[in-house]
Amino acid sequence: MLFPVEVAGFGACIVQRRRAASGTAAGMFRRGSEPVNLRTPFRSTIESKAIAAVLASALTGRSPARTVRLPWHVRFGFWLLPPRCIACGGEGDLGAIDLCAACLETWPHRATGEPGIAFDYREPVAAALRALKFDGDRRPARVLGTLLGLRIATFAARDRSSMPVAIVPVALHAERRRERGFDQALLLASHAGRWLGVPVCQWLRRSRMTQPQTELGAAARRDNVRDAFVAVPTAAFAMKKMAASARVPLRIALLDDVSTTGATLAAASAALSAAASAAGVPLQVQCCAVAATAKSSAMPTNTTNPT
Ligand SMILES: [Zn+2]
Repeated sequence: MLFPVEVAGFGACIVQRRRAASGTAAGMFRRGSEPVNLRTPFRSTIESKAIAAVLASALTGRSPARTVRLPWHVRFGFWLLPPRCIACGGEGDLGAIDLCAACLETWPHRATGEPGIAFDYREPVAAALRALKFDGDRRPARVLGTLLGLRIATFAARDRSSMPVAIVPVALHAERRRERGFDQALLLASHAGRWLGVPVCQWLRRSRMTQPQTELGAAARRDNVRDAFVAVPTAAFAMKKMAASARVPLRIALLDDVSTTGATLAAASAALSAAASAAGVPLQVQCCAVAATAKSSAMPTNTTNPT
């Protein structure tokens, strides 16, 4: 189990019961001396449920992973308009997001130890992301941004050095932002940042229009986004200011909605590293995404140490 479910309390107790259940159930599928290979998918289901239990307990305020109290106007909003589950339409019994505990448990939580990726890019998370990007439905942003923020916070509760000091959303080109009316990565970052209690810094911009990545193969994706990002002129100043009061290297969570080959995040990370290098600030960029394809390897954390 790579996910830090050992946080005390409600979540841990469910996890232990599930661990015990997994041992018994896996044993039941053994035939003769050759065990049927059901362990891996079965284990990932168990891990998904365990992760869901930790996130659910954090949302209902029973886990130490919850480090931040939501601002009063957000709590008042939920009191005024009680949450409804975006997946099944039922009551949002988790209290602070539009999702119910039963649906949260069935979602494809990333079963690897990557703190910066919340889900495998599969249904129904893929559908929620499409609704956000192409139908302009902003409710999934609150759900997905919150769950990613809580996942990062849960890992950070165990290892403080993995706590980012700021979230930087991958920038959308100004023209595409005008067409869409909003920037989905910025929206997701604002919800994640709220649960992490860290600022959202718009330090990147697109220097040129790129083709939608979904239409391209892996090599073409890298070419498509190469040098497509630059840091805004104020980023270097902000990094210096932050470095004066925070531990260095500055750990930044770079956030995109979906990662398939990691090409967009790599190009954006390079732009941030170049700006940090020029400003003389040691920087650590943790690449984060709400969802990533199952085959994409562990998301890199890039460290820049100016000499
Ligand atoms: Zn539901």
